[in-house]
Amino acid sequence: MFPCVFAGKNRKGSLRRSRGTLRRRSRSVARAAGLLLIGGALLVALSLALPHPSGGNTPLLLALAVGMALAGLLCVRFSRRIPLNFSHTILAATAVTTGGLILASGVAAGQYGSIFVWSVLIAGYYFPRRLVAAHLGWILLVYAVSLVLVPSTAGYSPLTRWLFSAISLTVVAILTTSLVARRERADLRARRFFDLSLDMLCTVDLDGYFVELNKAWEKCLGFNRDELRAVPFAERIHPDDRERSATEAAKVFAGAESVGFENRYLARDGSVRWLRWSATLAADESLLYARATDITELKRMESEREGLLREVEEAALSDALTGLPNRRALDEALPREMARARRSQAPLCLAIVDVDHFKQYNDKRGHLVGDVFLRDCAIAWDGELRGEDMLVRFGGEEFLVVLPGCSLDDAAEIVERLRSATPDGQTCSAGLVRWDTVEAAEELFARADAALYEAKGAGRDQLVRIGS
Ligand code: GH3
Ligand code: MG
Ligand code: MG
Repeated sequence: MFPCVFAGKNRKGSLRRSRGTLRRRSRSVARAAGLLLIGGALLVALSLALPHPSGGNTPLLLALAVGMALAGLLCVRFSRRIPLNFSHTILAATAVTTGGLILASGVAAGQYGSIFVWSVLIAGYYFPRRLVAAHLGWILLVYAVSLVLVPSTAGYSPLTRWLFSAISLTVVAILTTSLVARRERADLRARRFFDLSLDMLCTVDLDGYFVELNKAWEKCLGFNRDELRAVPFAERIHPDDRERSATEAAKVFAGAESVGFENRYLARDGSVRWLRWSATLAADESLLYARATDITELKRMESEREGLLREVEEAALSDALTGLPNRRALDEALPREMARARRSQAPLCLAIVDVDHFKQYNDKRGHLVGDVFLRDCAIAWDGELRGEDMLVRFGGEEFLVVLPGCSLDDAAEIVERLRSATPDGQTCSAGLVRWDTVEAAEELFARADAALYEAKGAGRDQLVRIGS
């Protein structure tokens, strides 16, 4: 499935693609850090509204809260443009700001500690363990300094309070990172199953690029994952199938399920692979999940079978010796000709042509030469007929000619031409009749046969016509 409508963006190479993934990740970190700052600012505002045990520097605290909220809003608003490394800085700055707030307020209140917990949570969620440990260390250092400088209102020593915080933050960090590690292990397991599938599995984004692909793709098309991700997938589709595929993909992106859609893909070695698809839209509508089965071999067998069927059908309707239509073909064609003649009110004539003394011919020259003669007759006589006429081998050395759209006189002329084209100096007799528009095919044959019988009886080598 390759929606060329999604092929607008021209991303080059997997490097750019992985940069895109990094950008998306840093965007989430920047947005989360921004929300953290806004949450912190709200907590400061709340602490100012609540009774304040030791006074503190309210105007400074207010200014810091406003600054924090603004910085948070900026982070959320411009999260797309903030690089990942800078997101780490924001997180570290959040810890420093919170420490500064504790100092400025003169109160080491619990809500500031909870901002630390959030910082650790977010770090554990987005960063690898080494970086989480670094963030945790940094946050605890800032908190230690704040606690030493700010007197306790509850009577605990700074060390006790720091230890409590250190233990709780470490537990949070361990829990978060192990949850994430568990999720990553589950992802890895899913990835193994993904790669085990003999079917081709993939996800496709709205820009028309492959996002995830399993190993079966490389086996089928010869391109590796990065090569497949580097260009819009429409480019890998056979040009004749692109429009059809785009329409189908658009349907899936509009919410419809796709089952049994087939198109052709271009493989690295230049060959064409037939794929049969089933696809559905992801719940958040940002991706399309698709499964494709390679049906190239099936298609080849199908077309081979169709070819054989055609050959069998043709063989059933033609005479093996002369290649002319046989009696069965006539039984199919004659009713059509009769219906057409009735509709157009044009005449329809029929002649039976029989080789004279063919038994003797065979006896004299052998059956095989007789066969060659019959073939030559078919070629010679067919050459004398018009395109719309039909020459049929009726059986043995007896042939039948259907002559639509011509009067008995014209038909007689054609049959005479045909008789004089008989090869090898042989002669033949013929009986000719015109269809009366009501009689059945068998009655028509019988009348033509009677005319032939008359010609034979009258000495052969002649045409007898019945009617006018
Ligand atoms: P007539 O002038 O009365 O038609 O005499 P005839 O000998 O042509 O007619 P008859 O019906 O007595 O014999 C037909 C002969 O045609 C007999 C048969 O061996 C021969 N014949 C029929 N089918 C074939 C064929 O496929 N190949 C060959 N070589 N001969 C055939
Ligand atoms: Mg004969
Ligand atoms: Mg005969």
